[in-house]
Amino acid sequence: MKVLVAVKRAIDPNVKVRVKTDGSDVDLNGVKMSLNPFCEIAVEEAIRLKEKGVVSEVVVVSVGTSAAQEQLRTALALGADRALLVETSSLLEPLNVAKYLSKVIDRERPQLILFGKQAIDQENNQTGQMVAQLIGSGQATYASAISYADGNWLVEREVDGGSQTVELSVPAVVTCDLRLNEPRYASLPNIMKAKKKPLEILAADSLGASVKEHTRLLEVASPPVRKAGIKVGSVSELVEKLKNVSGVI
Ligand code: AMP
Repeated sequence: MKVLVAVKRAIDPNVKVRVKTDGSDVDLNGVKMSLNPFCEIAVEEAIRLKEKGVVSEVVVVSVGTSAAQEQLRTALALGADRALLVETSSLLEPLNVAKYLSKVIDRERPQLILFGKQAIDQENNQTGQMVAQLIGSGQATYASAISYADGNWLVEREVDGGSQTVELSVPAVVTCDLRLNEPRYASLPNIMKAKKKPLEILAADSLGASVKEHTRLLEVASPPVRKAGIKVGSVSELVEKLKNVSGVI
């Protein structure tokens, strides 16, 4: 069985995000980029399924500019077998990304397609769900455990106040949540080996996906700067400030 993992190049989660002075977007100039953390969890899960003998091949795919090869090499160093880059410099709208990915799925015919639950840059939480619709498969979002039994995928999902287990026929789309696993680090020898693993580049236009612009980014703004707090000398002063200054009581 084959598992396809969709991975996105995103701003590193440890970077303090800066907005461009004209408010047109986030400033990515000279900023460290990484594998989106939820995609790392998806890659880890695919590798664990291979280690358990459930799947035999792990393929990672990213839609983006040639810079995304860096994140694909990271996924190869973590243990993926081969990588595909759908190369495009256009804005990565979830519906367009989903259309490209569904073309890759037609070509690769995986039995499981793993996604992160969301990308931490745009926080869309849409791409996996859209792919499931486009390929007509079942889907389970927010997975906290994945197993395979009697020809179906069993997925435990995090829901309010507990968990839910669903059974999905093959092929299935699953989006991965934080508690699914703790991703490993790539060892130096595996980073070296990853340089020789296959990474195929597909021109986005060659896939025959009908994409168009549905969304335009109008403005990005930083959160308002928090005002410094004050120290109060007594409970009565606190109550007086809450009543007369902040007006919360
Ligand atoms: P989003 O819907 O943008 O929050 O992304 C959810 C998940 O979809 C990500 O964690 C990835 O698994 C996948 N995804 C989103 N954008 C891309 C992309 N450009 N290339 C590959 N996978 C993507």
